[in-house]
Amino acid sequence: MDAQRLHDHITKLEERVRRSSQKSQFGNSDILVLAVSKTRPAEDIRAAHAAGLSHFGENYLQEALPKIEALSDLRLTWHFIGPVQSNKTRPVAEHFDWVHTVDREKIARRLSEQRPPGRAPLNICLQVNISGEPSKSGVSLEELPRLAAAVRELPGVQLRGLMSIPAQAEGEEAQRRPHRALREAFEALREQCPEIDTLSMGMSADLEAAIAEGATIVRIGTALFGPRGR
Ligand SMILES: *Cc1c(COP(=O)(O)O)cnc(C)c1O
Repeated sequence: MDAQRLHDHITKLEERVRRSSQKSQFGNSDILVLAVSKTRPAEDIRAAHAAGLSHFGENYLQEALPKIEALSDLRLTWHFIGPVQSNKTRPVAEHFDWVHTVDREKIARRLSEQRPPGRAPLNICLQVNISGEPSKSGVSLEELPRLAAAVRELPGVQLRGLMSIPAQAEGEEAQRRPHRALREAFEALREQCPEIDTLSMGMSADLEAAIAEGATIVRIGTALFGPRGR
């Protein structure tokens, strides 16, 4: 990808984030832009790093591992944001710093056991099925407190907060509704787990709505790298 275009995208994106956080009643001034680099070649990630980004999100292990290897000369923070299969937890525990998509105790337990000794605990967000669609992954709001209680006891992982991928919606209020529900679940959970500090919500199309509801991480692909081929 052309370096000048990438610079322009980053400038525009940072402006969107800054304006939304100024407007937001939550006033998070240090919102993390997680650059979602799925389907993008390692050279694009290298260019994005040169332009100032250092957190990257990947969905597919097979695609991510060679890129992580190819970029091991850079100081990057890798976030796994795809579905975690229980037979693929080891490479996730070994090569990533964050996992946003934990929705079962079994997965969390395996990630904790397989986190290499001497590494900082793996940062975990619990994925919540906030729209309640039966086909979607994510823990239900009802099951969330029990899962959180189990995860925070595990030594190899650190429970950081919640994540969701709501159904696509048009318009500010429709976009804010599921983010608000996740933020309310987060606030309720914080009574039980005061250490949690992360709300991973909002993508290219709805980052303003997510920041208005208190997002601390926005996960951005298209608005940085352009439309994906697949
Ligand atoms: C692809 C993806 C994103 C980025 O989506 P864009 O609309 O391209 O910004 C964010 N979060 C998850 C979980 C994704 O799979």
